[in-house]
Amino acid sequence: MAAWIWPSVCKTISQPYGRRNARYVKGYHTGIDIACPNGSPVRAVADGTITAAGWAGAYGNQVKQKIGGAEVWYNHFSKIVVSKGQGVSQGTIIGYEGTTGQSTGPHLHFEVRINGKDVDPMPYLGGSKVVPADSTDAEQVISNPFEGIGHLKEFFELITDPVTWLRVAMVMGGGVLLIMAFVGVAKTKALGALAGDKVKKVVSNAKPGSAGISKPGSGANGR
Ligand SMILES: [Zn+2]
Repeated sequence: MAAWIWPSVCKTISQPYGRRNARYVKGYHTGIDIACPNGSPVRAVADGTITAAGWAGAYGNQVKQKIGGAEVWYNHFSKIVVSKGQGVSQGTIIGYEGTTGQSTGPHLHFEVRINGKDVDPMPYLGGSKVVPADSTDAEQVISNPFEGIGHLKEFFELITDPVTWLRVAMVMGGGVLLIMAFVGVAKTKALGALAGDKVKKVVSNAKPGSAGISKPGSGANGR
């Protein structure tokens, strides 16, 4: 089988495969996100048959393509230009990037499934070449108002990731413990000095056998 080509005209992976986040249905990212302006063309990575083309809930407008033993899912299209049952050759434009379904900005969410199970797409795309953007390919020419949204999204996902907060809590907890330890030592020293003074006073004021110091065994709680 010929090597796959990169499906997008953009290179930036705004979210890799496998990153954990509770907001994902499976608890981790089941594909890769390639951030690209709305309307950018998406190409079939290899020859194969379209097995689905239409709305798919959180995936938005979705195209599925059978390629040998694998099924590839392309998601969040603004527009789909292929239909179910159609055979497409490598490089055929199958749709245009968008942000339909559960998405925070224009990107292609790309999945590879083997026997229905998602796998890391990168080994399949390894060595694939980015097809340069061609102005005649773009469905619509739009200046990209979402430049940098990939990084913003990544930052947002980082600060909403419980693991990040666990790390922050651990670092802060460590700091607080350190401060408490210092304060504790200082207090103990101060109290020790104070107690030492009191004991000296009591001892110096007390006469043997007086109420000041009770003898061992003849405790005040004797009765
Ligand atoms: Zn994604």
